[in-house]
Amino acid sequence: MDCIPKCPRNAIAEGGDPLYIDRDRCDLCGVCVNICPSRAFEICGREMSIDMVVEEVLRDKAFYSYGGVTLSGGEPLYQPRFVSRLVRELKRHGLHIAVETCGHVSRRVFDDILDYIDLIYYDLKALDEERHIAFTGVSNKLIISNLEYLAGRDVNVVVRTPVVPGYNFVDLEVEICRLVEFVAGLGIGRLELLPYHRFGEEKYGMLGREYRLRVSPPEIGYLREIVDKCRPRNISAEVKTPILT
Ligand code: SF4
Repeated sequence: MDCIPKCPRNAIAEGGDPLYIDRDRCDLCGVCVNICPSRAFEICGREMSIDMVVEEVLRDKAFYSYGGVTLSGGEPLYQPRFVSRLVRELKRHGLHIAVETCGHVSRRVFDDILDYIDLIYYDLKALDEERHIAFTGVSNKLIISNLEYLAGRDVNVVVRTPVVPGYNFVDLEVEICRLVEFVAGLGIGRLELLPYHRFGEEKYGMLGREYRLRVSPPEIGYLREIVDKCRPRNISAEVKTPILT
């Protein structure tokens, strides 16, 4: 293919279909992106300063009457100093601020930003500690302790739990009801169940990575039936429909 851009680090292997990029060699210099005539190459993400982010956010402020800014990731709270300064700056402009987090951070990180944020989307991947360790590599003790702490603070919390049958849930009916009870017991008013889907499979291929999670997605109607059966009062528990982003 004569349209393949010349890579200064020889990271692009010619002749492969799809094209193979050796990511150990690639230093994200962007040369291929800039010269590829068919725009087949793209670098996702870029470094930005606080001022740049704020400027970009404010450009659309007129459309924020029903929302605001959501700090997402990866894990935004793994960049606590940046987030700390950013939320202060965004709040100065009167914006509604939400943060998506896995909760596996020091309590101090939350204390530092709580006065400036309005909503936390909090990942709780499994109630069972051993299963949590098996599938995420860390204990859920810190995550649950932070969740209990946040439940008592003046901030809205929505707990989000992925449902991956055979991984974080084995007996769906029993364990979903247990989760609903647990979240309701903390006084948290909203739980969202996120059924496993395979939309990420193609992205893995584009990154030259093997997609190894071969699980059948759960039946959404069945999950909704379970939630209807076990929903206690004082909590809105919802099964979200996966959306391709
Ligand atoms: S960004 Fe493109 S040109 Fe630069 S090292 Fe990576 S593959 Fe090569």
